[in-house]
Amino acid sequence: MLLQTLKNSQITDNEISELMISQEKVAHVQSNNPLDHALLVLIKSGYTSIPVLDKEYKVQGQVGKAQILDSILGMERIEMERLHEYFVSDVMTTKVPRMKKDETFGKALMLSINHPFVCIEDNEGAFLGIMTRRSILALIHRHLEKI
Ligand code: AMP
Repeated sequence: MLLQTLKNSQITDNEISELMISQEKVAHVQSNNPLDHALLVLIKSGYTSIPVLDKEYKVQGQVGKAQILDSILGMERIEMERLHEYFVSDVMTTKVPRMKKDETFGKALMLSINHPFVCIEDNEGAFLGIMTRRSILALIHRHLEKI
């Protein structure tokens, strides 16, 4: 019953600000960045995968360590020297879970089944931040605790 209500409700502005990692705190790269820069950002931030944004801060896709390493995998070794030959656009995926700020919590929950994070956009498509599976589960847990 509570979960049904939660599923159909919009995430309140309060919850959004609580759940969302805002844009300025999200590690990201741009599609024209060379792969060595992207790998550096991924390693330094410690994340498996991060959003790819364009110059106007709109979401273009996501890129992860696995895709980058796969692109420089030779027959016998990882050819690190090839990292600067490629750009993020060569390996990124444009398939990225995204939703508008005013969509329902059910959508965030559904997207988080298959994705560790969901990109949140405003109505013009500008990137506002990400919601992680961890924060979505934490919100459900908090509501369940209240029962
Ligand atoms: P977490 O639930 O904290 O493990 O985060 C899940 C995934 O969300 C991570 O593996 C990253 O892909 C992404 N993520 C979380 N926090 C950030 C951040 N500050 N910047 C970029 N990506 C993030």
